[in-house]
Amino acid sequence: MGKLKNILFQDVKNPNESADGPITLRISALVMMIYLLIISVILVMVHHVWWMASNLFFIVIYGYLIRLTYGNHTKSALCIYNIVTICAVCFNVILIGWDSGIQHFLFMLVLLDLLFTYMSKWGQCVVVAFLCLIRLSLYFYCRGHVKIQLEDNCDIFLQVITTVVVFVLLYLVGLMLSKDSQAIERKLMKYNNELQQAANTDTLTRLWNRHCLMHYMEKKVEHPDDFLSIAIGDIDFFKKVNDTYGHECGDEVLRTLADIFKKEMEGHGVVARWGGEEFIFLFEGANGDEAKILLAHLQNAVRKATITYGELQLKVTMTFGLVEYDTKLRLDENINIADDRLYIGKENGRDRIIY
Ligand code: GH3
Ligand code: MG
Ligand code: MG
Repeated sequence: MGKLKNILFQDVKNPNESADGPITLRISALVMMIYLLIISVILVMVHHVWWMASNLFFIVIYGYLIRLTYGNHTKSALCIYNIVTICAVCFNVILIGWDSGIQHFLFMLVLLDLLFTYMSKWGQCVVVAFLCLIRLSLYFYCRGHVKIQLEDNCDIFLQVITTVVVFVLLYLVGLMLSKDSQAIERKLMKYNNELQQAANTDTLTRLWNRHCLMHYMEKKVEHPDDFLSIAIGDIDFFKKVNDTYGHECGDEVLRTLADIFKKEMEGHGVVARWGGEEFIFLFEGANGDEAKILLAHLQNAVRKATITYGELQLKVTMTFGLVEYDTKLRLDENINIADDRLYIGKENGRDRIIY
C-alpha cells in the first residue's frame, strides 16, 4: 500500500511543474483501470469475451499514460486520458446501453480539463461543447440500439459501481483543486496581513507609525461617543544621548521607552511613534484631567526607568503637551494645540506636562 502511494504521489521531474495535475491524472487513470476491469469481468460473465478484450486495450493505454506523467509529458498524458476515456465511454455505452450510466464519466472529463489544462476560455468552451455533443449523440443512439441486455442483478451492480466510481473521481479532482486554492488563499491572507502590519508599524520601536495612528484617530473622531485626549511627548536632550553615547545607544533608549509606553497605555488608549524622538498618545474615554493623571503615571515610569546599553545605565525624562479633544476643532488643530503645549513645556524647563 505504501509502495503504491509512493508511486502515485511521486513528484514530476520538471521543477517548474506542480505535481497536482500528474497525481490527479495517475489516480484517475488507476480508478478507470479498476473500473474497466470490473466491466470486463461482467462482459466475460455474459459471454462477450471479445468485447472484454477491447476494454483490456483501454486499460493498457491508461497504464501507458500513467507512465508518461513521470517524465515531462503531463500535457500528452492528459490528452491521451481524454481520448481513451471518450473512447471507453462511447464503446461501453453503445455496448451495454444508456442505463449503465457510463456516460457520466464525461462530466469528470469536463472538470479535469477545466482545472488542469491552461487552455484559453475559447479552448475550454470548445472542449466542453464537444463533450456535451458526445453525450447527446450517445443518448440518441442508445434510444434505438441496445447490444447487450444485462440481467437485472448485473444491471443494478453496474449502476451502483459506476455511480460510486464517478463520485469518487469527482471528489478526488475537486479535492485537488480546493486543496490548492485554499492553500493559495491562506498564503495570500497571511502575506496581506504581514504587508499591512509592516505598513503600520515603526521598524525600530515596533509601535504604530504616524500614518497608522492618524488613520485610527480620524475614524475615532468621526463618531465621538466618549472623551478623547491627545498628548505628544518628546524626549529631553535626546541629541545629547546620541552625541555622547552614539546613535545605537539612542536607538536602545527609543526601544526601551516604547516598551514602557505600551505597558502604561494598556487599557487606556493607543500610542504611536510620531517621528524622531516624539511620540503621540491617544487616551480613549478619558477627559483632560483623567488623561493628565494617566500621563503623569507614564511620565514617572519614564523617569524611574533605567535604560541599559552594554555597560551603560541611562536615565531620561520627557516633556508632554496634552489636550482634551475639542469636537469644535479639526483633528489637526487639536494636535497642534498639544504640540504648542509641548514646546511651552520645553521652554519652561522640560520634564513636565503642560495641559
Ligand atoms: P529637546 O529636549 O529640546 O527635545 O532636545 P533634543 O536634543 O531632544 O532635541 P533635538 O530635536 O535637537 O534632537 C532630537 C534628536 O533625535 C536629533 C536626532 O538625531 C535624534 N533622532 C531622531 N530619530 C532618531 C532615531 O531613530 N534614532 C536615534 N538614535 N536618534 C534619533
Ligand atoms: Mg524633538
Ligand atoms: Mg527631544
